[in-house]
Amino acid sequence: MFTKILIANRGEIACRVAATARRLGIKTVAVYSEVDAGARHVAACDEAVLIGPAAARDSYLRSDHILAAAKATGAQAIHPGYGFLSENDAFAEACAAAGIAFIGPPASAIRAMGSKSAAKALMEKAGVPLVPGYHGDNQDSHFLRSESDRIGYPVLIKASAGGGGKGMRIVERSGDFGAALASCQREASNSFGDDRVLVEKYLTRPRHIEIQVFADSHGNCVYLFERDCSVQRRHQKVLEEAPAPGMTVERRQAMGEAAVAAARAVGYVGAGTVEFIANQDGSFYFMEMNTRLQVEHPVTEMITGTDLVEWQLRVASGQPLPCRQDQLRIDGHAIEARVYAENPEKGFLPAIGTLRYLRQPPAIEFATPVAVATAATAAGASRPVTRIDSGVREGDAISPYYDPMIAKLIVWAPTRDEACVAMAASLAGMKIAGLATNIAFLKRLVESAPFSSAELDTGLIERNPGTLLPAPRPAPRHAVALAAGAILATEALQAAGDADPWSDVGGWRMNSRMTRSLQFEDAVSTHAAGINYQGRAWTFTLDGRTDQLSLVTCNRDELTLRLGGETVHGNVVLDGETVHVFVEGEHVQLHWNDPMVHAGELEEEGGRLTAPMPGKIVALLVEKGAVVAKGTPLLIMEAMKMEHTISAPRDGIVADLMYAVGEQVAEGAQLIAFEAAAVPAA
Ligand code: ADP
Ligand code: ADP
Ligand code: MG
Repeated sequence: MFTKILIANRGEIACRVAATARRLGIKTVAVYSEVDAGARHVAACDEAVLIGPAAARDSYLRSDHILAAAKATGAQAIHPGYGFLSENDAFAEACAAAGIAFIGPPASAIRAMGSKSAAKALMEKAGVPLVPGYHGDNQDSHFLRSESDRIGYPVLIKASAGGGGKGMRIVERSGDFGAALASCQREASNSFGDDRVLVEKYLTRPRHIEIQVFADSHGNCVYLFERDCSVQRRHQKVLEEAPAPGMTVERRQAMGEAAVAAARAVGYVGAGTVEFIANQDGSFYFMEMNTRLQVEHPVTEMITGTDLVEWQLRVASGQPLPCRQDQLRIDGHAIEARVYAENPEKGFLPAIGTLRYLRQPPAIEFATPVAVATAATAAGASRPVTRIDSGVREGDAISPYYDPMIAKLIVWAPTRDEACVAMAASLAGMKIAGLATNIAFLKRLVESAPFSSAELDTGLIERNPGTLLPAPRPAPRHAVALAAGAILATEALQAAGDADPWSDVGGWRMNSRMTRSLQFEDAVSTHAAGINYQGRAWTFTLDGRTDQLSLVTCNRDELTLRLGGETVHGNVVLDGETVHVFVEGEHVQLHWNDPMVHAGELEEEGGRLTAPMPGKIVALLVEKGAVVAKGTPLLIMEAMKMEHTISAPRDGIVADLMYAVGEQVAEGAQLIAFEAAAVPAA
């Protein structure tokens, strides 16, 4: 076995490989780009080597830099993860030439499966069923169109070199073929540097079912059953599960044997996936082979009790497979959800930003088979287990340079129904603020009727926009109460300094009989909550209904309130004027119209700066006649036991100061007369 490996990847897969290596006592070397110096995968490894600037082509795709890093650190093998160099035959060859083991199949197998067309030709010879189509060398547009006419519409034009859901065009009728072909070739040539295409019958309502295969260098090859990856958006996987609902023992064996035949046909070694497209009646056809570990490999690990990265390391170091086909079994059901930084509401557009706030559900990070088995049987009876594979921590950025995946949540349970329930609960516990995510969408998806009843096909998401992407609703009353409670608690804590504002001996008391309004907006409505201070509690009035509101516990972002007769519990994150409320599995975002923040701005036109609340002047920071720049602090007032700084709304002159230090001011009182500087003509 190796004693040191280099991981030529980043993010969750790099962390995941590092976790297995650590368990096996293997040292790890990370590589990283300039923007990744502080990334989680760097911290997860024993050593790290900088390989270039942020852009992947200058760093994670620089095979020369990566090989140099392996040599410099004495790594005996390179794990490529997925994406990047994982399906690059030249890189696999270069590793071999440098005497470093490439943890993946031989370069010849990568090459054989690299072109979807050539792979189909090979599979045809090996007796693996194919979707009716044309995958030959003739790329003449008239010929391809006549082939499509023969196949019958709809047809799918696919880039031979394609991947990642790119380079595909559905053609509904012969007349549209020419234009679709031209656009597919353009995309193929831009994305893959190769404009060759194949055409095949476009199946309606198909399922994507793939088989995990594993081969060693001693002639053994097994299949670790199937994964159903039918739930897709833009031909890319969103949820994956194993086993496939409705799979019969006979069909599983037929697909498994076809996949092993495919692997054997190309002299395969290591982990690979043979992807099939299946009709609702169960008939299946070879689609492509991915010659690497797959993003969704954890669902297979969870139902088979294996660690596929450990298998990869063993096989690459020359060991035989740890078990035979007849020793492999399926136990229970596993589902994976890919948590992405993206906007489901805007066509799943990728999002970037900083993970300002990140809370995870109870889960085992990169859970090993033993950890899963232990957790599943901890209470005697079998119960669900959640695993999380993630490459980020709170405070990290999702940058535009790489894949916007944040984490994978993987649940295991004895049955599919239990796994669905556990997944919904885990998604509810995944709380992120700072950037857009698909978490709420995933939760609706997992809870939707078609998914929970396993009516799966690749069009499931597109067919259910109403359920999966409903119109935004006004924030519920308890969410507004939590937002208000968090603001009031924060103010009370700040005002009390070190003292406990709720202790009788602290001596601090909130203003009694004071009324104020907290205004919030969500995407569709405005909420004006009336707050009345009642000693150490409040009354909360919203939409004409008044309840007693009091704080039960407040532990940083975790808040428990008493609202009327109810206990309300949630997480609240105050991020400037945005209030994130996580309650009952929902993430409610409210914009708080904080009068303090806008104290200056509102007065811009009239040149007045007024007190946003009743209070006392505690400091004057400028003198009458001072020429100040926008944002200069002008005075400090104290209101509600907190200090508030009033700043210049723009460049200008302090024409007059209306109050002296120590004076009380009423709400709305003019504090400063301000003259904006003349704006030079543009
Ligand atoms: P990629 O290399 O991008 O993964 P695939 O050939 O694996 O390309 O196809 C990706 C997805 O496109 C499939 O999972 C499926 O949803 C859809 N697809 C591919 N071929 C067909 C087909 N012949 N009929 C219907 N859908 C298809
Ligand atoms: P699958 O493995 O199921 O085919 P994808 O096609 O989504 O799933 O996965 C392959 C893709 O993973 C690559 O094409 C790339 O876009 C993406 N990828 C690359 N590096 C990483 C990474 N570090 N973490 C997650 N995804 C990555
Ligand atoms: Mg594919």
